[in-house]
Formats: sequence, C-alpha cells, structure tokens
Amino acid sequence: MEEINKFLKTREKDGLLRFLRPASLRKKGKIFISGKEYVDFSSNDYLGLSGHAFIKKAIKENIDKWGAGASASRLLSGDSELYHELEKKTAVFKQKKSALIFNTGYQANIGIISAICSRHSAVFSDRLSHASIMDGVTLSGARLFRFRHNDTVHLEELLKKERSKFKSALIITESIFSMDGDAAPLFRIAELKEKHKAYLMIDEAHATGIFGKNGSGLAEQHNLADKVDLIMGTFSKALGSFGAYVACSEIFRSFFINSSRAFIYSTALPPPVIAANMAALDIVEKEPFRREELIRSSEFLREKLKSMGFTVRGESQIVPVILGENKKAVKMSDMLRERGYFVLPIRPPTVPPGESRIRLSITYDHDRVTLERFLNDIKEINAL
Ligand SMILES: *Cc1c(COP(=O)(O)O)cnc(C)c1O
Repeated sequence: MEEINKFLKTREKDGLLRFLRPASLRKKGKIFISGKEYVDFSSNDYLGLSGHAFIKKAIKENIDKWGAGASASRLLSGDSELYHELEKKTAVFKQKKSALIFNTGYQANIGIISAICSRHSAVFSDRLSHASIMDGVTLSGARLFRFRHNDTVHLEELLKKERSKFKSALIITESIFSMDGDAAPLFRIAELKEKHKAYLMIDEAHATGIFGKNGSGLAEQHNLADKVDLIMGTFSKALGSFGAYVACSEIFRSFFINSSRAFIYSTALPPPVIAANMAALDIVEKEPFRREELIRSSEFLREKLKSMGFTVRGESQIVPVILGENKKAVKMSDMLRERGYFVLPIRPPTVPPGESRIRLSITYDHDRVTLERFLNDIKEINAL
C-alpha cells in the first residue's frame, strides 16, 4: 500500500496525475461537464456518427429483437447471424477475403499479435505504435525491434540484421498515428515485408471511415489492401459505435477463432452494438460528404495554426500542436478549457519528453464558425 501511495504522490507532484472527468451529456461535437458546455476537441467521433439517427434506430430495433447482451462467448451460444453479416460487410469494406470481430481494439491487438507470434518470432514495430500493440508483443513473448517513427531506412536495417535469426516475423504500424496525426509510408513498408518474408499488420483505428475513396482507410487509399496480411481497425472511433475487427484471409480468421485467447475467452459484443456497426458502415458508404468535409476543415485548421507560428504536425483530422514542456501544454489546455474548449494536454509517457502538446481531434460536427472562433481564442491566449 505504501508503494501505491508513493506512486500516486509522485504523479501528483510531477503534474502527471490522471483523473476522470464525468460528462453529463455529449452531443454534436459538444460535451457538458459540471454544468459547463465545451466544444469537444478530445473525442474520436470523427464523423459525428455516435448520435446519427439511422444508427440509433438500428440499435433500438435490435434491443427489441435480441435484448441487451450476447449471453456468451461466440464459441458457446453467443454467436449470431448478425456477426457473420457484419464480418462479410467489413471484409468487403476492407477489400480482404474475410474478417473477424473483436470486442475492442485493445483486445484485437493483443489477441492477434499473441496468436501469431511466439518467442521464436521477431516483431518490427514503429516506435510510436499504440500501447495495445506493445502489450500484444509482450504477451506473445516475441522479440521486439522498434524502428524510428516512419523511418523505413531504419526498419530495413533492423530487418537485414535480425530477420534471419527468427522463425517468423511481423511488421506492425498504425496507418494514421494517434498522437501525431501523420501517415505511415505504407508502400515502402509493404515492399520491405515482401523482401524480408514477414507478415504485415496495420492498425487503422484512426484512418477507418476517413481515408480512401470509400472511406476504408489508408490501405485503400494506397491500393495496398492485398499486400497487408492483417488490417485491424475499430468501430469505436470514426464509426461512432464500439468494437473492432481484423480483415484478413480466411485461414487467418479460422486460426484466430481457434487460437486467439482474447477472442475465445470473452463474451461476444451485444447484438445491438453489432447492428449499430453495420449501420455505421452503411453511413460511411452513403454519406461521403462527412469525410470530405472533415478532411477540408482539418486542413483549414492546420494551415491557420501554422500561419500563426504554431508547430503543428500531421496530415489528418488529428491536429497536434507541439508546445514542448509539460507546463506549457497544461497551461494552454487549462486556458482553452476556461474559454469553453475541451482540450487536454498530452504528456510523457504518452509522447516523448520535450514534446508535450495539445491534441485537437477535429470532427464533422465542428463547423467553420466554431473553428474560426477557436483560432481567435488560441491566438489571444498565445499573445498573453
Ligand atoms: C483507440 C485505439 C485502439 C484501441 O481501440 P479500442 O476499441 O478503443 O479499444 C487501438 N489502436 C489504436 C491506434 C487506437 O488509437
């Protein structure tokens, strides 16, 4: 207990203590906390689908039909035709032969990696890959080689030096990075994967619904779906709902059903959630204007911030403004919250030391008037 107390005290002293902020309501790009209304720049509801009428209707209808829960793991009696329908739809969306649903993106990553890798495997992962990817590697017992962020020269060096010492190899990267908002060099990574006989897995959590002509993600945009063995993504971000998937070959799918503990030993997602996911895929197909407008407004905000002299990274709806020291990021986010913007500081260990930042998540619900007003406010704060 003393250890635990000490940990919390140190966190607090360093200004790194995490705590929860319960909302009373979330609606149309806004969040309400302790009676105050904020523009929500911290959500991943990129297309504004979490409140979409068509999706809400799908959930309601399926609650009436199926009830709340799935009642068991899919390998017991928890499976239903709905999951298979969603998996077929997801496979087509992702341009792969098949797909398998996992309960969360976190579970998908640990479940996929720990199933296909062992202590005889090498994993080559981008340094900035998500915590769930790192945890999957740890769980698998594989040797981890981290390459410098988006640096394919470094990746190639590591592959040349280490690949032959292992039975199997897996290269993993996010396609759009969650904290930097930039895109992985997928074309070159796919070439290296072929050359060095490795599997390639990408995490499209932040690209799904947004990039590519059909909104499938970055693999679609670069026409690389058949080169990527495992395309993982979630229904919990741009798709506004909950759950995750891996799109892959039929053999991989059967393999995961038989060996992925995160899949086997967990109750299936509630059927109404599966119906919502299916409805969300329909919306992505029928309402491309959402992603088109999102890309335009993110570009608008990024360029304006740059012209004001801010250090801004990325090329997506994730707009990180790098401020450097922890204190600066904390102060900026505090002052923005005072002015009604829900913006949080992102600090180490989530990002490297000296790169503390505020991370703006732009969504379809943030119209130009809101963004202009925000730009005015951040300009004023910066001049103080
Ligand atoms: C959010 C996220 C996940 C986890 O997805 P959940 O469905 O929220 O568990 C995995 N990978 C990346 C890159 C993410 O941003």
